[in-house]
Amino acid sequence: MHGRDGERGDAFRCVGCRLDIPVAAPGTAHRNHCPHCLASLHLDARVPGDRAAGCRGRMTPLGLSARPDGEWLIIHRCLSCDGLSANRIAGDDNPLSLIRLATRPLTGTDLPVRTLLGL
Ligand SMILES: [Zn+2]
Ligand SMILES: [Zn+2]
Repeated sequence: MHGRDGERGDAFRCVGCRLDIPVAAPGTAHRNHCPHCLASLHLDARVPGDRAAGCRGRMTPLGLSARPDGEWLIIHRCLSCDGLSANRIAGDDNPLSLIRLATRPLTGTDLPVRTLLGL
């Protein structure tokens, strides 16, 4: 099984900043976004790690939200298919990037973020 874009089993190349990112991350079983710029690839369909989307579009972080249990999620939007996904933050995500995301208002968008948060 050889992925494109130099993807290996234990690391992936970030679509945003082109750094090689190890898949293993503190606090999550499946790192699916870059800890530096928080960009992601549209790989998973319903379950994180299932790699069933088959889209491979670039996903940019839209905003941050918190679940009732206090877990923080990054809302990603796919630039190719407009798909949305919510991903748990990892223990080594760049705090500055997270804060920048958290303080970005979710205005001027009609995205169903509220619906997404009900998942
Ligand atoms: Zn990156
Ligand atoms: Zn997509």
